[in-house]
Amino acid sequence: MTDENASFDRDAWRDQLSEEVPPDQDGLFSERRAKEILKMYDHLREHGELGNDHLASLASPDIVKCRTPETFWASVVKGTDTLRALPGVISPKPGTGDPWEYRPLAGEGRKMSANVSVCAMCCVAEPYGGYQLPAPCVRLLDGGDNVDPSAIDGEVAVELCEECTHVARRMARDDETSPLPECDADAVSWSSAEVWNGQRQVDRRTLRAQLDRREIADQIEIVKAHRDGDSDRFSPSKIDEAYVTLLSLRELGIIGHDNDDEE
Ligand SMILES: [Zn+2]
Repeated sequence: MTDENASFDRDAWRDQLSEEVPPDQDGLFSERRAKEILKMYDHLREHGELGNDHLASLASPDIVKCRTPETFWASVVKGTDTLRALPGVISPKPGTGDPWEYRPLAGEGRKMSANVSVCAMCCVAEPYGGYQLPAPCVRLLDGGDNVDPSAIDGEVAVELCEECTHVARRMARDDETSPLPECDADAVSWSSAEVWNGQRQVDRRTLRAQLDRREIADQIEIVKAHRDGDSDRFSPSKIDEAYVTLLSLRELGIIGHDNDDEE
């Protein structure tokens, strides 16, 4: 799982669930059963909502020592204060056939304020410049491949100290190298999408849909203008942002190499 639920005390819940679950005939396996319920919880958190059948199918009969996953679901999970007792879980009204839901709790999500004031590259100095990048770019950050861009609402803010701003600027403008892999995903900030929709496939089409086409065109214009020596009307950080955005989108395969090449 991702780390945005750092306040969730997994061990404490495992112990509590171990006490809640009906033990098997020999009085064993409570902890294993508790762990299987936590596995269901993880899936529910990831997907936002899931039906009974899907959740039931996640349990392995061998581990929980029930005949079938359905037996485990019916006798150990459904109707007991186990899965539904976990934070953010909303169980369906009996008989409706509605899915189970997970709603992120207030305060859950990234701790933006804790991270917002350090340089994403050296993680030490005070920010001086930086850029706002489209959500999919988070994948290019160090540690960013653990983050689902669809869990991000809006842009990813990468802040850099003065020294790192110049390093990143040189990389992007002169060497055409993205500075993002040098930046720590934990040191950048974004708003968490309130309800995650894990069922949405984050394929290239989705990534593309998350970007405003006109915005991409603007970035291409800025980079072109800078290469033509005609970028006085843009601030240096705006130009940095344009370079880094285009490098990233190319790397992610969202735009082709020909989109911003010089004539
Ligand atoms: Zn720095």
